[in-house]
Amino acid sequence: MSQSLEVVVVGGGLGGLTAALAMRQQGLRVTVLERADALGEVGAGIQTAPNAARVLMGLGLLPELERIKTEPQDQVRRRWKDGSIIGLTALGSYVKDTYNAPYWHYHRADLHQVIHEACVDPQGHGPVVEVITSAEVREVDQSDPARPVVVTADGRRVAGDVVVGADGIRSAVRDAIGGEDTLVFSGEMAYRVLVPGDAIREDPATRWLVDRFQSTIWYGPDRHLVHYMIRGGEMLNIVAIVPADDGIAQSWSRPATTDELLEQYQDWDDRVAAMLSKAEHCSAWAMYHRRRDPLWVDGQVALLGDACHAMLPYQAQGASQAMEDAAVLAEELGAVSRADIPSALARYVSRRSKHAGMVQDASLRNKDFYHLPDGPEQEERDAKLAAFNGESDVSYHWLWSGSPLNNADMESYHYQFRR
Ligand SMILES: Cc1cc2nc3c(=O)[nH]c(=O)nc-3n(C[C@H](O)[C@H](O)[C@H](O)COP(=O)(O)OP(=O)(O)OC[C@H]3O[C@@H](n4cnc5c(N)ncnc54)[C@H](O)[C@@H]3O)c2cc1C
Repeated sequence: MSQSLEVVVVGGGLGGLTAALAMRQQGLRVTVLERADALGEVGAGIQTAPNAARVLMGLGLLPELERIKTEPQDQVRRRWKDGSIIGLTALGSYVKDTYNAPYWHYHRADLHQVIHEACVDPQGHGPVVEVITSAEVREVDQSDPARPVVVTADGRRVAGDVVVGADGIRSAVRDAIGGEDTLVFSGEMAYRVLVPGDAIREDPATRWLVDRFQSTIWYGPDRHLVHYMIRGGEMLNIVAIVPADDGIAQSWSRPATTDELLEQYQDWDDRVAAMLSKAEHCSAWAMYHRRRDPLWVDGQVALLGDACHAMLPYQAQGASQAMEDAAVLAEELGAVSRADIPSALARYVSRRSKHAGMVQDASLRNKDFYHLPDGPEQEERDAKLAAFNGESDVSYHWLWSGSPLNNADMESYHYQFRR
């Protein structure tokens, strides 16, 4: 057994920290190197489907997740022009009963903090994870293949038995191991928006948003809109996808104004302007993704999350797939001695790359599917959405059921939800 394996995780995002926690619980010694001066997440919401919830619950986080979650009762699809409901899929209790795990929304910072605290909790299982901030990794030295070394911008060298690149879509670890250029700009950008819940409640034109918590998608020509409540109704989180403007492909992100956001949706149903006009925090993000990456592992260096399968957020699965990677990687590394690290990493790739690649591809297909101009194709799509019960080519059932873990005891994940 590999109780003393040392792992260096590059990147303290949701993927990197979930991996660190899962490996800690396997008894591995983990150091996380994070480029930012402080650990944190962007000020926005995140949806986690049962597949991610199952990983997080398996790490013992359920009580903390209960505290920070918001539970949507259904997923609603609306038409851009008049807000009419195209289709509705049950979430809430239906999902918990069917998948034995919940579909929940969070503020990203809250979820990140819960995972981080479990990594450094002295009462937790396994050795405490060491987190080093202000540590931007630039290179990986594999001159001793059995002890890869990461090198930071200021020259620090940190060695491990395994290096995990969890450093996001522009991964430096990926570059260091010679990953081919799979980056694609989708031609779209996302406005990430937060609206105070009080402003929503005070206006009769938006109060409907708090009557019943839902995960809502509006479909329109060239663009769509997703919104849901977080922090129990304290904030409405909105993601508004529109064609990219000049410059965003180069800058990747920038601050944005409520006026420009409103302009993007001016012909839409009045309810959209009513919620967008209350935006308090608004930023624009270029939508990049990757083609399937042929290289996930080189020697004893492995990639995880957006570093190897960055996808468009049109299935809300990027972080969830990173969490599945984390669980599988920890399970494999936790079961081997030093000599067997290469075979453990090979099994990690074979268990994860095809699955994550299918989710990548399905997210990309949604780009066209979501943005059809009005006409026969859109009508056909809406008919499909009206009949949608969670089953399509990459179905919710396929995504949400089961566990990525070999040794998963599904009963131990039994979820006793509070009513
Ligand atoms: C608009 C939008 C909405 C989304 N909604 C959802 C959703 O609802 N559900 C979902 O599952 N997914 C969603 N996603 C996808 C999700 O955000 C990503 O897939 C997820 O954040 C990837 O996690 P990661 O840890 O792999 O990478 P990241 O979150 O990018 O984290 C990488 C970390 O590495 C650090 N880093 C980078 N370079 C270095 C370096 N050289 N050295 C050290 N540290 C470094 C970064 O500072 C960062 O902390 C969404 C994405 C977008 C854009």
